[in-house]
Amino acid sequence: MRVKLTQSDVTALKPSPAHGPAKLHKVAGKAISRVEAINTRLYVIQDALKAAQPKLPGAVLLYLYKCNRNCGGCPHIVWRKWAVIKNKFCACDIDGSPLKRLRGAGEFSTGKSTAKALIEEALRLNRERRKIVGLFGNIGRTITAKRN
Ligand SMILES: [Zn+2]
Repeated sequence: MRVKLTQSDVTALKPSPAHGPAKLHKVAGKAISRVEAINTRLYVIQDALKAAQPKLPGAVLLYLYKCNRNCGGCPHIVWRKWAVIKNKFCACDIDGSPLKRLRGAGEFSTGKSTAKALIEEALRLNRERRKIVGLFGNIGRTITAKRN
């Protein structure tokens, strides 16, 4: 289920004395549903990206990991690529944009456009999720500040 946050929902997430708990509750529910939908989609992208490229050095990989700190940002995104080091396959971290590392020659040519679209979608979803989770952080800080 795709839950679309409207601009007024995002505005309501920003701490304001004009918004009561009922409104916050409603908007927070929508925001949580959207984050869950994004996370589900990211796991699908993780598998689809792997499938779109051959398992050869240079293939770009999306890794999702949980930091086990009970944070709202889990699962976190790490971009890696296949590499062969000392005759062993390993997934090395990528510095910078994964789009710049995408290969399109030889066996990579078939899935390149799919892989590119998947990476772009993951980057977009991650930005949206960070924005939503960040707004929750703002509310938390405001509530804490008011209590003190
Ligand atoms: Zn985390």
